[in-house]
Amino acid sequence: MAAKVTKTTPMVQQYMDIKQEYQDCLLFFRLGDFYEMFYEDAVVASRELEIVLTSRGDSGTERIPMCGVPYHSVSGYLAKLLSKGYKVAICEQVEDPKTAKGIVKRAVVRVVTPGTIIEEQLLREKVNNYLAAISYIDQAWGLAYVDLSTGEFKVTQIPSSQSQLLMTELIRIKPAELYITETNSAAIPGLSQLSELVVTHGAPGDFRYETAYARLTEHFQIHSLRAFGCEELPAAVSATGGVLAYLYETQKNSLIHLRKIVTYETGQFMTLDPATRRNLELTRTFRAGDTSGSLFAILDYTVTSMGGRTLRTWLEQPLVQLAAITRRQAAVAVLTVNLEARESIRELLKNTYDIQRILSKLASNSANARDLLGLKNTLQELPKLKELLKQFSVEYIKEIEQNIFSCTELSTLLIDALLEDPPLTIKEGGIINPSFHPELAHLKDASSQGRRWVAELEQQERERTGIKSLKIGFNQVFGYYIEVTNSNLNMVPADYIRKQTLTNGERFINQTLKEYEDLILNAHEKSVALEYQIFLEIREKILQHIDELQQTATSLAELDSILSLAEVAVRNHYIKPELNENGKIVIIDGRHPVVERMIPPGNFVPNDVLLDSNDNRTHIITGPNMAGKSTYMRQVALIVLLAHIGSFVPAKSAQIGLVDRIFTRVGASDDLATGQSTFMVEMNEVAYILNHATAKSLIILDEIGRGTSTFDGMSIAWAVVEFVNHPNRIGAKTLVATHYHELTELASILDGVKNYHVAVQRDGEEIVFIRKIMPGKTDQSYGIEVARLAGLPTEITNRAREILKMLEKHQTADLETPVKPPVSETERQLSLFPMDSEVVLEELRKMDLVSITPLQALNLLYEWQQKLRGQQAS
Ligand code: ADP
Repeated sequence: MAAKVTKTTPMVQQYMDIKQEYQDCLLFFRLGDFYEMFYEDAVVASRELEIVLTSRGDSGTERIPMCGVPYHSVSGYLAKLLSKGYKVAICEQVEDPKTAKGIVKRAVVRVVTPGTIIEEQLLREKVNNYLAAISYIDQAWGLAYVDLSTGEFKVTQIPSSQSQLLMTELIRIKPAELYITETNSAAIPGLSQLSELVVTHGAPGDFRYETAYARLTEHFQIHSLRAFGCEELPAAVSATGGVLAYLYETQKNSLIHLRKIVTYETGQFMTLDPATRRNLELTRTFRAGDTSGSLFAILDYTVTSMGGRTLRTWLEQPLVQLAAITRRQAAVAVLTVNLEARESIRELLKNTYDIQRILSKLASNSANARDLLGLKNTLQELPKLKELLKQFSVEYIKEIEQNIFSCTELSTLLIDALLEDPPLTIKEGGIINPSFHPELAHLKDASSQGRRWVAELEQQERERTGIKSLKIGFNQVFGYYIEVTNSNLNMVPADYIRKQTLTNGERFINQTLKEYEDLILNAHEKSVALEYQIFLEIREKILQHIDELQQTATSLAELDSILSLAEVAVRNHYIKPELNENGKIVIIDGRHPVVERMIPPGNFVPNDVLLDSNDNRTHIITGPNMAGKSTYMRQVALIVLLAHIGSFVPAKSAQIGLVDRIFTRVGASDDLATGQSTFMVEMNEVAYILNHATAKSLIILDEIGRGTSTFDGMSIAWAVVEFVNHPNRIGAKTLVATHYHELTELASILDGVKNYHVAVQRDGEEIVFIRKIMPGKTDQSYGIEVARLAGLPTEITNRAREILKMLEKHQTADLETPVKPPVSETERQLSLFPMDSEVVLEELRKMDLVSITPLQALNLLYEWQQKLRGQQAS
């Protein structure tokens, strides 16, 4: 078929020119009240958004596939496309269609990508939305991340020898999008496994050190990066410059709210590997993956979104330095004992708005009048808040007070200038108080005056013409008109000019009415334009104060987080932990912060723990399934973690020796997503712990070795405990829950290992969980009893008991040769468990007696005897 010769209209040509530059995006092309998509974009968008695909084209031109979404509901569609990994280029009309000559000019004003969202409808209130970038220079990784919706901008540098830490940070930050060169993304082990991460490949030029450095100094208007702390960190500079390059490229408008970079060291915070974060359910639950049921949900009594985001960050980045922790703890402490102050501060904070996000919208020119009102209302609360905070002498609260800037002048300006209850759009007036601006007042007067005149005119005309039913009305097409019904048309005076004929009457205008109309409409148009002008001026004034306002926002957020920690401490009866640096952890009547809230009040059984660097390094915890082992171990980890964020803890008393890291290896779950077997995942996690834990770490091991055969598993668990307990190997504080009763032997062999068990009471064939942790080992596993509790039919549990009895009889021979402690390394490998007797029995079972000679039999007997004797000798 011959190619059809097609003409394109100027608009389609304009579309194609713009699309040419945004090939990797869906182009939302503004046409009147719609964003339209054409060609392939339309096909994709109609499919993804489930909207109708139509086509357009005049005769003689090609028909073009198209679909569209109304501009006022664009955010829902954007959300859908972003969540599916698309980027959207927003193309607006950039000149007034009324004054445009020929086709209206259009340009892309912004590219919306998952990491650069500022639309509040697309953001979650208490969750940051980060764009991250990674770069590599001189044996180091630079990792920068920014939340465009709040202005937070952070960077760190990590030596290449600690690539794992880079991944850990990345998983903690959970960026919505990562900007990175293709080469670097291929070089980071594990990056491709983060299936949810949207990766955008950037040009290497964006990350060039010199360019990046220049871009940063230019953006922040500074001579060196010394004040930000990254002058000497080339990889960090490169990553930060990369982020900024990407933002310039996608955001077109000002990034004025990005005011500073905060350089941090990963060493300031406790590193929590992804498995540990997951296992401890810090911000989401293991199974459902949602916030409710997480530690965050329990702690979160924040009343502002900014506070919610900060508290989340605190939880995800526990502190490790004593001074930093006590500073926060002291602030929490004074608030716990002052109910009145807590209530008053909370009431004031409730009236504040998310000014971080408001400022960012102002900077990107997308703020509306309600945002200004939000800022106004916030500023109004500040003097009272500062006054309230002055009563406290703890350092942190003092600092917060000093860093809240009331910006009185600005506040007064906003109070004077803004009308309450403005419309959502900023270009239709109704925002600015007429009394704020004489000219505006004049214009408003004129237009309302005009309207009054029109009303008076109606009366005058009725009298003049004698038409009682004469009406003056208004519509968009004809403006003001005089309406006369058919029966009165004979009374219409000569100066009326006919405009429109209706079925039951006619519409006219006359000279006076036209003059009033001009006055009203002109005045209205001018006042709307003037209001917008004033809005822009106010916006400028606000942006002049952006540093103070951002500082204020941070302080409010931190205050809210402290308040939240104080609130949860009081409500849930937490106490202030005593912190020490001698490694001793003594918790009396500790509770699991989440589980205690999930069961009826008063039902949680508190438990103690004593861990130190000497005699009480390792606890081997035994007890039946469901007895409460996991809960207990997690509770210890969570209490230690809470202490590190400066929080109070659920216990009667607690001495918490600071730890450098917390590791957990909890439960066995198949990692189907990555196709790894349970056992592989488990061993990976154990290997990770063994490679990274130190004597200052706290390790939680729940049922290691489960994913393989009993003897393999037990041997592995045994060796792991030896390794983590040994002062010359790791010597960490460790809690181990296990089904392998053999491990309890370790307590009598190794220094620092103690046995504990979760007590259960037996009531005939039933068992009762009493959830109490007691010293010593348990002698029974109660597996069948637990199975019965779980609802296994009695027929099965009875039969299981029979089988168990038989098995126990068979094994008595083994039981009579108790396990001996390993002496040397070789012996330990050879004879940890009664493996040899198993081997002998197995060989005997398999032997074919018919085909064997008496001599062979005798030789075998001799060999077996040697094996069994050798085992006994060890
Ligand atoms: P295990 O690890 O021994 O199999 P879990 O720690 O999973 O047992 O505990 C099983 C259930 O028992 C938990 O879901 C919790 O509801 C309850 N539980 C655990 N510890 C306590 C406790 N100290 N007080 C009250 N209930 C508890």
